[in-house]
Amino acid sequence: MYSALAPTYARAPIAFERGEGAYLFDTDGRRYLDFAAGVAVVSLGHCHPHLVAALHKQAETLWHTSNLYRISGQERLATRLVESSFADQVFFCNSGAEAVECGLKMVRRYQDQVGRPHRYRVITFQGAFHGRTLATLAAGGQEKHLAGYDPRVDGFDQVPYGDVDAVRRAIGDETAAILVEAVQGEAGARVPPPGFLRALRKLCDEHGLLLFLDEVQTGIGRTGRLFAYEWEGIRPDIMAIAKGLGGGFPIGACLAIEPVSAVMTAGSHGSTFGGNPLAVAVANAVLDVVLGDGFLEGVRRVAVALSQRLAPLAAEFPSIIEEMRGTGLLLGLRAKGAASAQAALIEGLRNHGLLVAPAGDNVVRLVPPLIIDDSHIEEATGILERVCRKLVS
Ligand SMILES: *Cc1c(COP(=O)(O)O)cnc(C)c1O
Repeated sequence: MYSALAPTYARAPIAFERGEGAYLFDTDGRRYLDFAAGVAVVSLGHCHPHLVAALHKQAETLWHTSNLYRISGQERLATRLVESSFADQVFFCNSGAEAVECGLKMVRRYQDQVGRPHRYRVITFQGAFHGRTLATLAAGGQEKHLAGYDPRVDGFDQVPYGDVDAVRRAIGDETAAILVEAVQGEAGARVPPPGFLRALRKLCDEHGLLLFLDEVQTGIGRTGRLFAYEWEGIRPDIMAIAKGLGGGFPIGACLAIEPVSAVMTAGSHGSTFGGNPLAVAVANAVLDVVLGDGFLEGVRRVAVALSQRLAPLAAEFPSIIEEMRGTGLLLGLRAKGAASAQAALIEGLRNHGLLVAPAGDNVVRLVPPLIIDDSHIEEATGILERVCRKLVS
């Protein structure tokens, strides 16, 4: 059937009309518990009253001025991100790919400015996902995403995720940085071995490399800390964030330590929409909630509760769920069998009113809004149990 939309997506035959908290309502009025959250984006659920109020207020005041002028909400958001992280300075953009792209430009320009222009290569990891621009695709290195888009952007060396020795062997005279996801999201909620980020930090220090974290998916509370790198007690040099930052309003950011961000002088980079008043008003409202007293502690508690309810289900239905993985509220259930098993599980759950997101490696990803409570966990695991029972019989 002809569609005016480019055929880029394999969409489910369903459209939503309204959202409220952890729930979505389709055009037939059917209610769904949303454990996909717009792929880890709707961090505070749908139409959170505090975000709605912030957006309304900003919409009635000022929408867009461009970065030709100062934007007070942008300055406030940057200050708050800096105060809550390793970073000294922030560049705002509109998506995850742009945030990673900005970091890649920082890497090259930093090495150039400190007199090492021959260092331009970046070590990345198999299974990585960093976005869909030509450079971020090359960084991700996934054949299925790169097919037909040659020639590839040069300068990326891929090694297995979690393999410190492979990283060490890959470091050469031209290496500038290591780009890594704290947890691989799109690859299927793959958690690296403990100490992995610490080992990468050490290698970077020994070889004069920049450590560049992609926390587009893991950032803003998803793993139970504001940023996932905090679990390892390290500090990166550059970090890309997006998804959860706007709670559904498009915004991305690239954070860096001052020696690195300082090379991005006036005219060296830019974005028409980046950090526009609407986007930063909503992101500031997201931070009001996420940085509020006890919020992240609550995320850690529900994350443990959800894992504890999922683990016995995975054990009870080994012919459906091969493995459970992930951390915080970035969890994956690996469907046993072919790709059709993953699709069947996702469709079964959707037909029973639970939305989840597909990921690589046959994984069904659970990335609920951070505001879920025990009743949502009961409802979701109840649906999962019913669907597994149906699929085995
Ligand atoms: C989603 C994602 C991106 C790309 O973000 P877009 O907003 O789609 O450009 C990059 N890195 C990671 C880890 C992601 O999960």
